[in-house]
Amino acid sequence: MKTMLFGQTPDQLKETVAKLGLPAFTATQLGDWMYKKRVSGFTDMTNLSKQAREKLDAAYELDLKAPVSVQTSVDGTKKYLYASQSDNFIEAAYIPDKERATLCVSTQVGCKMGCLFCMTGKQGFQGNLSAGEILNQVQSLPEFDNLTNIVYMGMGEPLDNVDAVLESIEIITSEKGYGWSPRRITVSTIGLIPAMNRFLDESEAHLAVSLHSPFDEERKEIMPIQSVYPITEVINELKRRNIGGQRRVSFEYIMFKGVNDSPRHANELARLLRGMKCRINLIRFHPIPDTPLEGTSDDKIEIFQNMLKAKGLTVTLRASRGQDIFAACGLLSTKELLKKQQEKDF
Ligand code: SF4
Repeated sequence: MKTMLFGQTPDQLKETVAKLGLPAFTATQLGDWMYKKRVSGFTDMTNLSKQAREKLDAAYELDLKAPVSVQTSVDGTKKYLYASQSDNFIEAAYIPDKERATLCVSTQVGCKMGCLFCMTGKQGFQGNLSAGEILNQVQSLPEFDNLTNIVYMGMGEPLDNVDAVLESIEIITSEKGYGWSPRRITVSTIGLIPAMNRFLDESEAHLAVSLHSPFDEERKEIMPIQSVYPITEVINELKRRNIGGQRRVSFEYIMFKGVNDSPRHANELARLLRGMKCRINLIRFHPIPDTPLEGTSDDKIEIFQNMLKAKGLTVTLRASRGQDIFAACGLLSTKELLKKQQEKDF
């Protein structure tokens, strides 16, 4: 089986060409062809010698995968389904919005974290994506040239696959890759502290922490990770590092009716985040199959938002996009997975 070359960082490419006995400058040429000129085969790499191309072709493949299907929302949001190398399916959402065009990428097939409100969590965990598979969602996107931002908020917990996430960010931000500013990238996490510290040490991208409840016991009910990394420890770690002073940190807060939307929650949230430069993103919840959770009504969200603002916090309400095609993040791929299982059982 050939090794995937697409997704290798500049340093990894140097090691690869050394292993093949090719001149060191071939690494720069390869990065240039793959990430700048975005070719899909070795034959297109015309400034490489025939011998170099043959050596590469014998052991490596670029293996770029076009999306297998797309759903388009009335608001222009598009949800792409990609096949992973393990023959499972992952999703990426393209969200155009005036001058901005954001791509939300997946980092794992399924997820281990079991958050109660999440369709991907219900799917279980099928595996990590490689840096190449994460990057393929970007590079094979038909709207690649329009992209202004990338958020790692699709299927999976990005920091549970921190190596591949950091490698993909390195390629996106390196001058030898796409050459993007890291400020155009946001990575979300439910708060895996050791991996979060690595991410903060090794990249300059923005961070979004999924908070969803300020109370230990209540957060545990909806996010099992709370038993391992309590949200107070996550926040204390960010305060200790003074992260909000250096780059953008936001806290994601999905509003669940009767669960986390009371004045008691707003007060505790404000107390927890006191002294930290950050932003809270309130998010409407759109119910998924088999969950007891319901979304807070818009008027109650507004009251909650105003309570937080009155306490001096920066709060935004994230616009719901692609609602008609997003019955829930992870739903499309879950359907494909079930179809595959049924075909196997048949
Ligand atoms: Fe995993 Fe994120 Fe879903 Fe939690 S919300 S189960 S971390 S994908």
